Amino acid sequence: MADKFDVIVIGAGPGGYVAAIRAAQMGLKTACVEKWVNKEGKTVHGGTCLNVGCIPSKALLETSHKFVEARDHFAEVGIEVDEPKANIAKMLEFKNSVINKNVGGISALFKANGVTSLEGKGKVTSSTEVEVTDHDGNATTYTADNIVIAAGSVPVEIPPTPLTDDLIVTSTGALEFTEVPKRLGVIGAGVIGLELGSVWKRLGAEVTVLEAMDSFLPMVDSAIAKETQKLLKKQGLDIKLGARVTGSEVKDSEVVVKYTDADGEQEMTFDKLIVCVGRRPYTQGVIADGVGVELDERGFIFVDDQCRTNVPNVYAIGDCVRGPMLAHKASEEGVMVADIIAGHKAEMNYDAIPSVIYTSPEVAWVGMTEQDAKAKGIEVKTGSFPFSANGRALANNAPEGMAKIIADAETDRILGMHIVSQHAGELIAQGVIAMEFGSSAEDLALTCYAHPSTSEAIHEAALAVEGHAIHMANRKKR
Ligand code: FAD
Ligand code: NAD
Repeated sequence: MADKFDVIVIGAGPGGYVAAIRAAQMGLKTACVEKWVNKEGKTVHGGTCLNVGCIPSKALLETSHKFVEARDHFAEVGIEVDEPKANIAKMLEFKNSVINKNVGGISALFKANGVTSLEGKGKVTSSTEVEVTDHDGNATTYTADNIVIAAGSVPVEIPPTPLTDDLIVTSTGALEFTEVPKRLGVIGAGVIGLELGSVWKRLGAEVTVLEAMDSFLPMVDSAIAKETQKLLKKQGLDIKLGARVTGSEVKDSEVVVKYTDADGEQEMTFDKLIVCVGRRPYTQGVIADGVGVELDERGFIFVDDQCRTNVPNVYAIGDCVRGPMLAHKASEEGVMVADIIAGHKAEMNYDAIPSVIYTSPEVAWVGMTEQDAKAKGIEVKTGSFPFSANGRALANNAPEGMAKIIADAETDRILGMHIVSQHAGELIAQGVIAMEFGSSAEDLALTCYAHPSTSEAIHEAALAVEGHAIHMANRKKR
């Protein structure tokens, strides 16, 4: 008889591995099943995030950013260098070394916390049983008092652009280009399209982004989205809105893409095409017929606010359930579920989950946009501040962007913070913490910020909510 566990987690992405570590920390006998194998045939933990998502994309974003700084901006601040060259093979090597360090770290954490690592494909066969089929095809059934499904997501594919081995690819392929494509097409101006489009643009590709919607980044406050669109255009990203892709043809190592826009039918030819039109939950083969775990109409595992499925003691977290597909959201759900299983009270604040797009400058936001609030009939007051008036941003030679705070007009409570700037992904933590603590804009306005720091732009935006920004000439009069 195989081992019995208090908890078996299926999937070792940022949802699953965090749930497993937390459960073990809570004194629960825990196993985590993972089927991902790397090119060397070794089981690797970390899921999409560490292997083909957050971490490798950020490694390439950082190296390509450094390259652009050296090529285009060092001279502006008095550093003279010979024309820098991008060594793509070396960049990929660096990216892979970052993946390996991160992935190895999770295995070490499993050992340190006493999580049993089960290698192979896990399938829930009843509310207390998980069948694990190892890489040689041998199946073993383990029993558990609780099961957590953290199976993640996979890219959405669309009929007009069927994937090929190396010309029409998803984000995974776009992290592996061994040379800079001369003409790169990107379908979807979402997070992946803007991040990976930026990487290859910086390294020299002509990048065209085809976006079906007429609006740009509708989830971001429109003032910030407009500023971002302007800045990315200035960098040379050609973002075509209202462009609906209708077909594609691969000819002589090129991809011809057909799309329609306001002017009618169009055609463009690319050397590579990235399809990044969203991701879908991965649930295939994870739950045996008859277990009774319900999926919603979009294929996500149906869960309540605390990630319980409709089957007692079976939970689901991360990308395979509703909510934003973000690593930190998956991890926080993992912690919540482990705590609940350990008998504690736990919940998540889904209103205070930050999002970041790691372009340059970065775009980061938490909570409502001004437009969301108005649509909900909430009266708001807002404060904005440009980084061009922030001393540290000027000293950093990074004066682009602005910060905006949206506060309830009656209570002054912060409802949202939206930023486009260098390091916006770090600055946004202030908005998240403020919202977690139920702060008012005045709370931030009365806080003493270090000088010089780009955080002072947040301070000024908070002051601007009442028209009191110090370093802004055209501030509101009271
Ligand atoms: P996953 O990370 O997908 O992990 C699921 C794991 O389950 C996988 O390892 C899979 O092999 C395993 N699995 C599935 N089925 C089984 C089974 N039957 N048996 C055993 N194992 C199984 N998010 C951010 O927050 N910040 C970012 O900067 C960011 N960048 C991204 C960049 C890219 C290019 C992509 C594609 C995604 C990015 N994301 C980012 C999204 C982020 O990767 C996901 O939200 C996150 O990985 C979800 O975590 P998860 O644990 O739910 O699923
Ligand atoms: P996305 O949902 O962010 O963007 C997809 C875009 O494609 C949308 O703008 C959509 O309108 C457009 N689109 C859809 N169908 C289209 C079509 N047929 N033609 C043209 N455009 C079309 O999805 P993504 O960029 O693929 O990213 C997937 C997920 O991964 C996201 O949920 C995101 O949260 C996550 N992710 C996060 C980060 C980060 O946090 N920095 C980075 C990468 C990915």
